[in-house]
Amino acid sequence: MPKLSNRIAAIAPGGKNGWEVHFAAAQQARAGRDVLFCSIGDHDFATPEESVEACVRALREGKHHYSDIPGIARLRDALARISETSTGVPTKRENIIATIGGQAALFGAAQACVDPGDHAIIVSPYYATYPGTFRLAGAEVGVVLAMPEAGFQPTREVLEAAVRPNTRALLINSPNNPTGTIYTRQTLAAIAEFAIAHDLWLISDEVYWSVAGSGTHLSPLALPAMAERTLVVNSLSKSHAMTGWRVGWLRAPEEVIRQLGELNLVVTYGLPEFISWAAAEAAENRWGVDEIAATYARRRELFLSALAGANSLGVRGSEGGMYVMLDVRAIEPSGEAFAWRLLEEEAMAVMPGESYGPAATGHVRVSLCLPEEKLKDAAARLKRLSQRYAAPGKPGGKEAAE
Ligand code: PMP
Repeated sequence: MPKLSNRIAAIAPGGKNGWEVHFAAAQQARAGRDVLFCSIGDHDFATPEESVEACVRALREGKHHYSDIPGIARLRDALARISETSTGVPTKRENIIATIGGQAALFGAAQACVDPGDHAIIVSPYYATYPGTFRLAGAEVGVVLAMPEAGFQPTREVLEAAVRPNTRALLINSPNNPTGTIYTRQTLAAIAEFAIAHDLWLISDEVYWSVAGSGTHLSPLALPAMAERTLVVNSLSKSHAMTGWRVGWLRAPEEVIRQLGELNLVVTYGLPEFISWAAAEAAENRWGVDEIAATYARRRELFLSALAGANSLGVRGSEGGMYVMLDVRAIEPSGEAFAWRLLEEEAMAVMPGESYGPAATGHVRVSLCLPEEKLKDAAARLKRLSQRYAAPGKPGGKEAAE
């Protein structure tokens, strides 16, 4: 076989990808073990019926063809309205390009902002595909740490320490996967000032905008002088329970969108036509948005109160999004070791914090994509394991005895 490109090999260097515990759990489940999965970030419920019906209708109406390369006008207009509502910034059709999920919006943003040899900064804990997205664009990736003690909020100081002469872009994500952290107005202002001071592109991944905990979503796009340098990544996956439909978009300056149209032309040739019409209707009507947000808010509250009393499990971030991040360092320095033991002794799968870069060492991510009864069960399993860890005679034993 001829040699493959260095580019393709660099997406995931080394064998480990952070999903080892989940894959082992999946294998055990296939072999018949009853495993409780809290490792997956996909809704446990279906897309709202209205959106499904809209799609069936679009198929029956003959929407079987290629669609407009940057997205059909009706879809772009509907996505522009969501961008306007979620960011508070006026948005036109020309500011929007529809993509195959937020994932392709991230890919497009990286392709648009960095050249080979450039440097891009991401914030750990980060969504696991971020490093690969920039590596594929030929950029070097710098990782800054948003530490648990700071509520997983990055600071101006850590960003300044990471910047280099060839830094071109910073990628942030709030509400955050994996920590559930929502960046404060102060954090976003510091990020904006940093981006302006170093003339950087800011790629702001806001796919969890609708699951914004107790407050309303804040976007750095709305901060002074940020519209010209900000690319907002968004998606119907989380807000509208449409993960499998693969509808995302980028909100960016018109010139960026125009250029990215060329990328859509080469890579995807646009979204499927019937999906586009149904997605436009789902977006226009906000089908499911409020109910889904309320479901996750309720689940978060229930899960955290079910964990009350497990003093050896710390909670930081976990304010929004679809995840809770648990600090297990009082009983176990390694999130990975804790996750393996949880699988072995309690038949429960979580993601080790180490899968998201060094800032979440000694943590585990629990997904809230489970019905309430199962989340109560998950909390009980976590408490049982933490009590066994902290058995009398071991450090932390007293606290964990509840
Ligand atoms: N960004 C973040 C932070 C995510 O968690 C995800 C999906 N898990 C995505 C982007 C991509 O989502 P999608 O492609 O389904 O829109």
